[in-house]
Amino acid sequence: MKKNRKIVIKVGTKVLTSKDRGLDKLRVRDIASQVSDIRKKGIDVLIVTSGAIGSGMWLLGMKKRPLELASLQAAAAIGQNYLMQLYSEYFKEYGYLTAQILLTQEDFNDRKRYLNIKHTIDAILKHNVVPIINENDTVATDEIRCGDNDRLSSLVADIAGCDTLIMLTDVDGLLDENGSVINTVTDVSQKVMRLAGKSHCDLGTGGMATKLASARAASKAGIDCIIANGRAKNILYRIVVDGEGVGTKIICDKKSHDAKKRWIAYSSKAKGSICVDDGARSALCHGNKSLLASGIVGIDGDFASGDVIVISDRQGSEFARGVSNYSAIDVNKIKGLKSRDFKGILGCKAKDEVVHKNNLVIL
Ligand code: GLU
Repeated sequence: MKKNRKIVIKVGTKVLTSKDRGLDKLRVRDIASQVSDIRKKGIDVLIVTSGAIGSGMWLLGMKKRPLELASLQAAAAIGQNYLMQLYSEYFKEYGYLTAQILLTQEDFNDRKRYLNIKHTIDAILKHNVVPIINENDTVATDEIRCGDNDRLSSLVADIAGCDTLIMLTDVDGLLDENGSVINTVTDVSQKVMRLAGKSHCDLGTGGMATKLASARAASKAGIDCIIANGRAKNILYRIVVDGEGVGTKIICDKKSHDAKKRWIAYSSKAKGSICVDDGARSALCHGNKSLLASGIVGIDGDFASGDVIVISDRQGSEFARGVSNYSAIDVNKIKGLKSRDFKGILGCKAKDEVVHKNNLVIL
């Protein structure tokens, strides 16, 4: 077994809810028991759990997922409390404390907040405490949502420097056309994505397609992913400690970028976009150059200096992402110009480049 292992376990709503749709307490206890056994082998474990909205709905006697945002967020607030209560009670039985972390996409967009999450997770693990993470559904609106906990789990796996992400769901893994589990995926191609189909339930979000997309992103960060049935006996221990090949394993690529560039390419959400001419596109893609204002032909969105933006060509196809040194208002003023002109127009010149090559990722 590899040394210094660190893993994320993502537990979906379907794994946690029982027939009457309340939380299946035995399942929560079983997860706590398996995670504690894994932890005792010296492996750090983080849990990304769903189930807040489902529990809240059950506690409030709601039969259908509410459509109104405030009711959904109220259900999440009520359910999250109950969910954490169960996790902390059961982990305590096995000798572990738990720490609740609630995140939104906004926390990943800002580099300082991003690094702060990382340091906090490190500190929690140093105390031998199990971090239990969910989206902060009570404040998250569409603009600031991670989207689903599949994506959130891959963001967490990357930020925490994990080697493995296990996504527990209610099926045995990705199925082929004949309904047999595919054991290994080395490339999440279009063909593989087509096998995922669409699956949704009214308690949580996500499905096989979002799991594969998240696995693909995690794989670019050098993280292996396993999609497995959370209801199968001892599933976590068998995968992590015994190394049993159950479920579908998505084998990772070599790390494609360093941590900061992965943050730019995947973890953060772009706040706007810059359109460039063919010369600039070629200089960025083939010349390893920074983006200068002279090659910019258009901008879109309301970004600030320091925000991540998308860079697209004249045909509108997105080929890079980077951190802008200037706000949208300022880029609009300096686009097409040389940097020696910036001072006269902006009153000051901060940087020669609009996006420095060290803060730029070609997709
Ligand atoms: N954060 C949601 C919850 O706890 C679930 C989101 C998801 O299932 O992807 O209910």
